Order: sequence, then C-alpha cells, then structure tokens
Amino acid sequence: MVDVKKPSELANTTPDDQGPEFTGECWPTARGSWTIFPQLCKGCGLCIERCPAGVIRWASDLGAYGANRVTVDADGGSTCRICAYYCPDAAISVVVE
Ligand code: SF4
Repeated sequence: MVDVKKPSELANTTPDDQGPEFTGECWPTARGSWTIFPQLCKGCGLCIERCPAGVIRWASDLGAYGANRVTVDADGGSTCRICAYYCPDAAISVVVE
C-alpha cells in the first residue's frame, strides 16, 4: 500500500518530512573541494570515463545500491567539474573557491 498525501497535508509538512538527508565524503582540492554522496552513486562509471585528469576511481567499498561506487585522488584533480556535469544522479559536488 502506498501512503499518498493529500495536497492539504503536504502544505503542513516540515523539512523533517521531506525525505532522507544525504551525507557526503569531502576532499580538499587545489582550487576548492570535491564531494561524493555514496548513497546516490549507482556505479555507472560515467564520471570515471569522462574525467580528463583520470583521478576518479572505484572505491574499495560498495555504495548504497550494492554496486561499486567512486572516490577520488583529489590532489590530482583540476576542479573542472566535468564529473559533476555528467553524473546522472547528482552524486558528485565540486566547489571552486
Ligand atoms: S557518474 Fe555519478 S552515479 Fe555514475 S559512478 Fe560517477 S558518481 Fe556514481
């Protein structure tokens, strides 16, 4: 059975009612920071394929879907954000400072 809320009930929701929160693993880079949200990574490998610096690699542990997930060698990253653009699940955040 699916719990469907009426519009009048949705108007009374609080931030705590609006779904799960995701925690990220963050690394400093030369020009900012690189964050992966393991609960969102489905292990498609697009970011590894597209990274021009070759610094994204498979992590040693699995992601939330039971599939491979990625991590980064942030020291070699150029903070170009291409990985974040290509990730279909918004599992990567790159902040340039
Ligand atoms: S593109 Fe996104 S979902 Fe795919 S492996 Fe990379 S971080 Fe995970």
